[in-house]
Amino acid sequence: MAKPMDQYKWHELNVGCVIEEVGNASEYLTGDWRSSKPVWNDSKCIKCGLCWLYCPDAAVFRKDDGFFTSNLNYCKGCGICAKECKPGAISMVEEER
Ligand code: SF4
Ligand code: SF4
Repeated sequence: MAKPMDQYKWHELNVGCVIEEVGNASEYLTGDWRSSKPVWNDSKCIKCGLCWLYCPDAAVFRKDDGFFTSNLNYCKGCGICAKECKPGAISMVEEER
């Protein structure tokens, strides 16, 4: 029987492989690929929501207090949110190893 997809090493995957189970994207913790992470400074945030709008991984979410942060299980550290944040409320910080 085949192993679940998340138990394969990258070099064991077929080129152009298709994930069989539709709708299982949430099981893949793509944040593991990240080398830097966004850090929010709420004192600079104007709650415009552009970080949420531009995040290509839908990793940014609005907290109960109206400020934003990211779900690090899925944030890949691309830095787009920090680039689009005009007040400079987001800094990209290198991950510790
Ligand atoms: S883009 Fe910047 S200012 Fe706008 S909500 Fe996000 S963190 Fe706040
Ligand atoms: S660094 Fe990239 S993936 Fe992570 S929250 Fe910002 S825009 Fe989204």
